[in-house]
Amino acid sequence: MRGAVLYAPGDVRVEEREDPRIVEPTDAIIRLSATCVCGSDLWPYRGIEAVDGPSPMGHEYAGIVEEVGSEVTTIRPGQFVVGSFFASDNTCEICQAGYQSSCVQRVGMGTEGAQAERLRVPLADGTLVATPDIPADDLVPSFLAASDVLGTGWFGAVAAEAGPGKTVAVVGDGAVGLLGVLAAKQLGAERIIAMSRHEPRQRLAHEYGATDIVEERGDAGVAKIKELTGGLGAHSVIEAVGTQESMMQAIRSTRPGGHVGYVGVAHGVELPGEELFFSHVHLHGGPAPVRRFLPELIDLIWNRQIDPGKVFDLTLPLEQAAESYQAMDQRQAIKVLLHP
Ligand SMILES: [Zn+2]
Repeated sequence: MRGAVLYAPGDVRVEEREDPRIVEPTDAIIRLSATCVCGSDLWPYRGIEAVDGPSPMGHEYAGIVEEVGSEVTTIRPGQFVVGSFFASDNTCEICQAGYQSSCVQRVGMGTEGAQAERLRVPLADGTLVATPDIPADDLVPSFLAASDVLGTGWFGAVAAEAGPGKTVAVVGDGAVGLLGVLAAKQLGAERIIAMSRHEPRQRLAHEYGATDIVEERGDAGVAKIKELTGGLGAHSVIEAVGTQESMMQAIRSTRPGGHVGYVGVAHGVELPGEELFFSHVHLHGGPAPVRRFLPELIDLIWNRQIDPGKVFDLTLPLEQAAESYQAMDQRQAIKVLLHP
């Protein structure tokens, strides 16, 4: 099969890879209907995360089940399924508490390489959620978004305790930040402030429910949020970048007693203990337990109540994966969908 492999920073190639096969009796093999490039794929692409030899890329996936192992009981060949970037058993105590991305049996999907024609999914019964039927083609991008960016933005909003009567600020205007806006709206937030200086992204933020846009960042961004909230700060702040600047911007934009939901993968973030102590801000985040939200998100997409697939503003064939990385790296695209 064909699949994308990162050889070195800036060097993505699509090449012949070995077809995945059932290894464990709990595995499934799926044929991808669509796949995509994640903001977090840009860390190794930019050389900020070490590249350890040629690495298959991609961890977001939706597609048709082709084959299941002998111990798989609920997932069947022919179903259209969505899974998350961590495979999970969905039965251990951690999963049952809603933290499937820390499952005691978790398997990271990144090493399997979902930017490909086929994918092996471990712990298929726990990991995969099937749609009611084979979806219409125009729904596929939204289901693919549910695999990571929607689930991650949703967790950011839940962790930030977005809800009725709340003012929610969103730091980061990538796909996760934009879908954090969508999630905050769905959760009933009263006011949603998107922090973005890119016009096409501001437009999508408005479409997803943002009531205000703040273009300033850093201290100026914090001052603007305070100004918009009577000097207090937002009740809920979603942090969807993962840098020192974005994390401090999120914490300082939150009012005492408020909540930060941080879902940008942290790179070199160090928190000042004393400032945190006196801030009275709750911090909750981490790799989103997307599996917790998948049944609800699939239902919302199936019934066309949300359209998270709009974050894909560029579609390319899988063979052009290298161009898709370039486009996202240079911020020419919010998110690129790849057709195997
Ligand atoms: Zn588990």
